[in-house]
Amino acid sequence: MELLILGSGTSHGIPVIGCSCPVCVSNDPRDSRTRASALIRGNCGESILVDAGPEFRIQAIRAGIRSLDAVLATHAHADHIHGLDDIRIFSARKDMDVWGNTECIEDIRERFAYIFRPTQEGGGKPHLKLRTAGTGGEPIVIGSLSITPIPLFHGTLPILGWRAGDTAYLTDCNQIPESSFALLDGTRKLVIDALRARTHSTHYNFEGALAVIERIGAEVAWFTHICHDFSHEGIREWLRLRAPGKKIEPAYDGLCIRIE
Ligand SMILES: [Zn+2]
Ligand SMILES: [Zn+2]
Ligand SMILES: [Zn+2]
Repeated sequence: MELLILGSGTSHGIPVIGCSCPVCVSNDPRDSRTRASALIRGNCGESILVDAGPEFRIQAIRAGIRSLDAVLATHAHADHIHGLDDIRIFSARKDMDVWGNTECIEDIRERFAYIFRPTQEGGGKPHLKLRTAGTGGEPIVIGSLSITPIPLFHGTLPILGWRAGDTAYLTDCNQIPESSFALLDGTRKLVIDALRARTHSTHYNFEGALAVIERIGAEVAWFTHICHDFSHEGIREWLRLRAPGKKIEPAYDGLCIRIE
């Protein structure tokens, strides 16, 4: 099993449109960050997408995605679901299950109203089956995979992180309820929202992410949903000073994490 980081950038992506800061003009490919998304690949060929952001098509081509069994949505912000239309290539024969919490599923139904309205033949629309995930840790079983939704808060918005085996993917959050720490027990590898060094009202900053890594006891962790305040190497330097000896790195587009 593996978790492939398709995108590691914040809502603007990096480079930010019109920005000529050192990070946005950097030649380091790891400083080029598409919107946050990930792919879980199972041992029996399962392929599960976590969020379908605006760059899903580009990410899917880059990662060579040939099939998709389900989409797990963290929440319905534009940078996480506005690529859902491009799922249609994978839903021609069978409706695609799209899992999210109640708020997210309601938002998708409203945002993508055209999908659920009868329209003329030939207008290529994705065929989605919207499914509400439980918030008490009930796992979703897809093929040989069992994936647990982890309730989180993104400011005041309830959202979901996702855990498969020893690996958890927690983007767009700045608060984890106590009951969710219980669901994260035993997590060895963690991908965690860490927008920037400065504080933010709906995202963990670097210090906040470090505190979560510490609390969960993850052995290895990666920052994601990164903005253009820091370059990849800049974050590594920050981590070398602030968390020496710890296995914490900034994620990057294309990073592949082995799930046990
Ligand atoms: Zn986001
Ligand atoms: Zn910039
Ligand atoms: Zn968000």
